[in-house]
Amino acid sequence: MAQKPTDLMTIWDEKTERITESGCWLWLGGTDKDGYGRFSVNGEMVRAHVTSYRHFRGPVTKQVLHKCNVRCCVNPEHLYLGNEVDNARDRDACGNTLKGVKHGMSKLTEVQVLEIARRLKNGESNFWREMGVSKHDVANIKRGQTWTALTGFRPYSVGG
Ligand SMILES: [Zn+2]
Repeated sequence: MAQKPTDLMTIWDEKTERITESGCWLWLGGTDKDGYGRFSVNGEMVRAHVTSYRHFRGPVTKQVLHKCNVRCCVNPEHLYLGNEVDNARDRDACGNTLKGVKHGMSKLTEVQVLEIARRLKNGESNFWREMGVSKHDVANIKRGQTWTALTGFRPYSVGG
């Protein structure tokens, strides 16, 4: 029998960044290969946005899709049930919407940002050239000045 987390709101408080402008709750934890937030419940990996819908809205009878098109968003108010065609649109529009959230400040994609954040947390440096991104962008991410919704970094929260 599936047991839903009793304190999901606590998890959401820790694991999401609330974007005031868009209302999105961006997932800061792990994501699957498609960019959807996921986490472990009783040893089973579940998608964060699906869990959010089930917990706050009701039974999941179709695909759980995003009105905001941001795949890593788990705000139940932004979720709705739809079909596969809608799902394809959901995927396609995600990256663009995220850039919109950041007011076009960076040319990086969310995937690049998450990779940069992962490497920074590993203590790596000088990987920007290898990744084909600008040193300036990496520095801004490291200092918690850009993309904080995705990285969870705060100013000076990363050593080095
Ligand atoms: Zn959203």
